[in-house]
Amino acid sequence: MSRVLVVNSGSSSLKYAVVEADSGSTVADGIVERIGESVDEGGVADHAAALQTVFDELADDMAGLVAVGHRVVHGGPDLYQPTLVDEALTAKIKELSPLAPLHNPPALLGIEVAREALPDLPHVAVFDTAYFHDLPPAAATYAIDRDIATRWHIRRYGFHGTSHQYVSQQAAEFLDVPLGSLRQIVLHLGNGASASAIDGGRPVDTSMGLTPMEGLVMGTRSGDIDPGIITYLWRTANMSVGDIESMLNRRAGMLGLGGEIDFRVVHKRIESGDAAAQLAYDVYIHRLRKYIGAYLAVLGSADVITFTAGVGENDSRVRRDALSGMTALGVELDEQRNADGAKEARRISTDRSATTVLVIPTDEELAIARACVSVVTALA
Ligand code: ADP
Repeated sequence: MSRVLVVNSGSSSLKYAVVEADSGSTVADGIVERIGESVDEGGVADHAAALQTVFDELADDMAGLVAVGHRVVHGGPDLYQPTLVDEALTAKIKELSPLAPLHNPPALLGIEVAREALPDLPHVAVFDTAYFHDLPPAAATYAIDRDIATRWHIRRYGFHGTSHQYVSQQAAEFLDVPLGSLRQIVLHLGNGASASAIDGGRPVDTSMGLTPMEGLVMGTRSGDIDPGIITYLWRTANMSVGDIESMLNRRAGMLGLGGEIDFRVVHKRIESGDAAAQLAYDVYIHRLRKYIGAYLAVLGSADVITFTAGVGENDSRVRRDALSGMTALGVELDEQRNADGAKEARRISTDRSATTVLVIPTDEELAIARACVSVVTALA
């Protein structure tokens, strides 16, 4: 038995799952939302109270835990292995807060309250940037003043690494070929969204950068923009740095363009003639196609393109529009296979397509649980 509690602590929500790392089955999972809101109005006072709610909900499922795994968004330059949490590690994560002000402080809070509540269990931090630690320098480096970049640790770190790694391994397993023989593009399309190019099991590019704001259009984040927009708004529109950051993170992307992040609703609005929803969708698809084209060029060609996460796993229209007209590039979707709403890993390309297109459900909790077990086993 290797049961792990996986905690993903955000500023206003705490996601959790109890996972059997060996079998891969999820014993229980859920989310506690509205942390920091008034308790009288149905909110949860703080992260400690949220964790207590989790314990109440899990009850007997807590029995036999071997570890607690914590998802930490930013590992900075030095933290890229699943690591046993101790005082030195929490201090390091704290030091990284300026790199990930929206994500690391709440993760740290989650770690602190969980360690207090479960002091006898090993706690392990798993970093979302880890998988991309060894990106080739040409992909990881911004073309800015080198001294400034070095001094401030500015590079492309990449995020969703746990998912990109897990899904690319699953793709190789599904096809029953060695990971090392495949050139892959993974499209993780959830509320956050990122693409990666993986050559023989090694990531060679990814769309997110110093922060999770770069790259694809997301639910509430802009993805790529001209950095000139930021200085222009700051200088001319009288917006503070905080205003601009908040706008780009929370009121941009699909929300900023069309007022809606859920693609099921976006499609309905488009059908009813909503021009803003149509534009949001078109911008989203255009950006996605650009990244697919870029990564086909980075890799030379792709053996596999895999869609994953909430939108990637469920939205056949997004998948169709992302890949339409790419037959000359070796990519041909099978409309019927694509429209099949099955929940398990599946092939959605035609048999003659040179590039195999897959849909594979991601499972970051399982990947984190397995990483925890390997750390704990190494300790024993
Ligand atoms: P997160 O990044 O928060 O983990 P998910 O990977 O769960 O997000 O993706 C959530 C998004 O997936 C939703 O906002 C919605 O746009 C999309 N989604 C979920 N189910 C469907 C569906 N059946 N059809 C289209 N889109 C869906």
